[in-house]
Amino acid sequence: MTAPTTCEDLRAWQRELRAQFPIVTGHPELAYLDSAATSQKPRAVLDAVQAYLTTSNANAARGTYTWANRTTDLVERTRERVARFLGDTRAERSAVHFTSGTTEGLRTIARDWLPGLLRDGDQIVVPGADHRANIEPWLETRRQLAREGVRIHVVEMPYQSGSWDYDHRALAERAGPRTRFVAATHVHHVYGGDMNVHRIRRAVGPEAVICLDAAQGVGHVPLSVDDLDVDFVVFSGHKALALPGSGAVWARQERGPRFTPGGWSGTPNTVGVASLEAALDWLDAAGVERVERWTVDLAARLTEGLRGLDAYEVLGCPLSLAADSAVQRRRGIVTLRHRAVDSGDLGFVLFSHGFMVRSDHLCQGDAGERTGSVRVSLHVYNTEEEIDRLLSVLASLA
Ligand code: PMP
Repeated sequence: MTAPTTCEDLRAWQRELRAQFPIVTGHPELAYLDSAATSQKPRAVLDAVQAYLTTSNANAARGTYTWANRTTDLVERTRERVARFLGDTRAERSAVHFTSGTTEGLRTIARDWLPGLLRDGDQIVVPGADHRANIEPWLETRRQLAREGVRIHVVEMPYQSGSWDYDHRALAERAGPRTRFVAATHVHHVYGGDMNVHRIRRAVGPEAVICLDAAQGVGHVPLSVDDLDVDFVVFSGHKALALPGSGAVWARQERGPRFTPGGWSGTPNTVGVASLEAALDWLDAAGVERVERWTVDLAARLTEGLRGLDAYEVLGCPLSLAADSAVQRRRGIVTLRHRAVDSGDLGFVLFSHGFMVRSDHLCQGDAGERTGSVRVSLHVYNTEEEIDRLLSVLASLA
C-alpha cells in the first residue's frame, strides 16, 4: 500500500502547532482520534484561563470595580469575536448568546424562539439522520404547541442514498410556502460529509429560517454565515479547542422574531468565554482553511488505506474515499465497521494499541445507522504517522 502524500507544504506548520498541545505531546504512545467528541486544548487556551482566573475573575455585568468591568468587557468582546469568526459582516444586526454547548443552544432556540415563529399548519424540516441534539428539540416544540392546539407538520429532511448528503432537489419538492423553519447540520458527525448547506436556501426560498448545527464545523472548516445565508449557527466551544461549557448561538435577527432568550440568565460561564476567545484567536492565527486541508488530507489517507482492506466498510460517501477525488467532501471524520468484529470490541482492541476512538451509536437519529461503528475524528494535532500506525493495526485485524 503506498500512502498518498499529505499536504507536504503544511508539515512544518503542523509540527509547530502540535507542539502546543501539552496533553498530546505528553503522551506520545497514545493517539487521540476522538476530536468530534471533544478537542484537546492548546497552551494558549490553558494560559488564557489561568490568566483570567488570576487577574480578573469576577461576575459579568454586575459590578462597578475593575475585575467586574474587565469580565464584562471580555464577554462583550467575545460576542463580537464569535460573530467575526463566523464571517458575519453585519454584526451590529445579529446577536450572540453564550450557552453550554450545541445541545443547549439548539434547545434554547426551540424553547424560547421557535414557538413565536410558528402558526397553525406551518411546516418544519427536521434532519432525522443527524445528531439527536438537532432532532429532539424541534419535536419537543411540536409537542408543546400541539398541547396548545397549534398543529405543526414535520417534514423529514431528505438524504441522498449512499452519500448521506441532503437531497436539495427532493427538499425543494417537499418544501412550500408553509415551510417556516429548517434544521440542518454543517458537517455530519458520523459520515464526515460537508452537507452543502448553501443549497438549502435555494430549495426552501427566501423566507424560511435555516438553523445550522455547526458542532463539527466551527474550528475545523471555514464558515461564512453570509455565504451560507443561514439564520442561526450553533456550536460547542469544547469541540473548537475551548473549555467544555462554552458554546454559542449566533442569530441573524432578520427573519422571524428577534432572538432574545427568555428568563433570568444568571451568571455566564466567564472562564469558558475566556477560553473561547483564546481558542478563536488561536484558530485564526493557525488558519482554519489550513486546519481543514490538513485534517481532510489525513482522512483521505485513512480512507485510501482502508480501500485496500476488504474487512472494513467505510460509512458515507464512497466517492470521497480516493485521496485525489475531485468530489472529496469528507472532512476530518471517518466512520468504519469491521465486517466480522463488533464495533465495541474493535474500539477496545484499538485502545489496547493506544488509539482513542469512539465506538458506539454516535447519538445519531433513528433515520441513520442501525448498528454501532467506530469513528476516527481528527484535528490539527493528528499526524500522518498516527494514521499509518492505525492502518497497520487495522490491517493486522483484517
Ligand atoms: N451536534 C453534532 C453534529 C455533534 O456532533 C454534537 C456532539 N457530538 C452535538 C450536536 C452535541 O454537542 P454538545 O454535546 O457539545 O452539546
